[in-house]
Amino acid sequence: LNRRLAEFGTTIFAEMSALALQTGSINLGQGFPDTDGPEEVREAAVRALRDGRGNQYPPGPGVPELRTAVAAHQERRYGLAYDPDSEVLVTAGATEAIAAALLALVEPGDEVVALEPYYDSYAACIAMAGGTRVPVTLRPHFDGGARFRLDLDELRAAVTDRTRLLLINTPHNPTGTVLTREELTAIAELAVERDLLVITDEVYEHLVFDEAEHLPLATFPGMRERTVSIGSAGKTFSFTGWKVGWITAAPGLVSAVRSAKQFLTYVSSGPFQYAVAEALALPDSYFTAFRDDMLAKRDLLATGLAEAGFEVFKPAGTYFITTDIRPLGESDGFAFCRALPERAGVVAIPNAVFYDHREAGAPFVRFAFCKQTAVLQEAVKRLKS
Ligand code: PMP
Ligand code: GLN
Repeated sequence: LNRRLAEFGTTIFAEMSALALQTGSINLGQGFPDTDGPEEVREAAVRALRDGRGNQYPPGPGVPELRTAVAAHQERRYGLAYDPDSEVLVTAGATEAIAAALLALVEPGDEVVALEPYYDSYAACIAMAGGTRVPVTLRPHFDGGARFRLDLDELRAAVTDRTRLLLINTPHNPTGTVLTREELTAIAELAVERDLLVITDEVYEHLVFDEAEHLPLATFPGMRERTVSIGSAGKTFSFTGWKVGWITAAPGLVSAVRSAKQFLTYVSSGPFQYAVAEALALPDSYFTAFRDDMLAKRDLLATGLAEAGFEVFKPAGTYFITTDIRPLGESDGFAFCRALPERAGVVAIPNAVFYDHREAGAPFVRFAFCKQTAVLQEAVKRLKS
């Protein structure tokens, strides 16, 4: 393994999912649903396969049906108009979108400012692009409910003359924070003032609870032309195995990202693209029902974790709950998560893996709630005992 990747090893998700299998534990570690997405969308994939749509190399930018559906979704939900031909690119999941965007836009030596904790592929992809990551730590606050918050002064201070881009994620994995209008306004002003590009990972855009609202960064003044927005069918439609994602951005940015994508995967899997195009056109009732289902699960797990003695950061978005284990008399999330399968038959993720400043993340542990109600109930029962 070369020097760029040596520090990354095996992803925590592979390690913890293997541990769950080995010990027969309930896997609340890796974030994937234990029920598949809508029947009619699966049928659409079967139809595409059977009718020979997408069984050979589809067009590099993605099939026109899906690009059109992505553009229509952005317009319908957010009033953002994108040209399906020049401003949408289909990728192999959001993971490839992140990789291709960083490989296309970062020069060796450029600094990339990213929120910390961050989804683990960010650090590895910044490294593969030869960039330097500059983490800005979201810190826990306890006024008016426990929440991780962005310090806007810290964000401003992180930008230097070498900063090329900001890598933002809202709703935020793993903290469940949804950036507010005020925070996003400040990010947008900073990007415009310092002439930065922004990659915004919005894969949990449909999983936002209570009074929180998902506001795409591209809707803020001056942002549409400098923002690469990322979405994924894995999260919104519960098909993480299909690996269909997309970016929307101005033509120059899409063309740059496509240049990288064509040498990573060339094209993305064909038949699933047709099915996701149909999924994106589902009525609003699908998206509302999906969110309401996850909201009930959030409440079930949040209550259970609190009763089991964890400090719970109730998420405003995503399907993850970050907890603090210090009320349990513990302080090392790694040790806690390695022992938890034996102790309680439950797998969780130590948030420290999402930090450069590992000590800042040490006492935090993440649980996923995108699981069947009975599974969550059993997990809570085990954790309490
Ligand atoms: N970004 C974030 C914040 C995620 O949580 C995930 C899924 N774990 C991804 C990107 C990757 O999405 P996909 O499965 O579509 O590659
Ligand atoms: N995004 C999911 C998570 O954060 C799964 C990530 C993965 O398996 N690479 O758990």
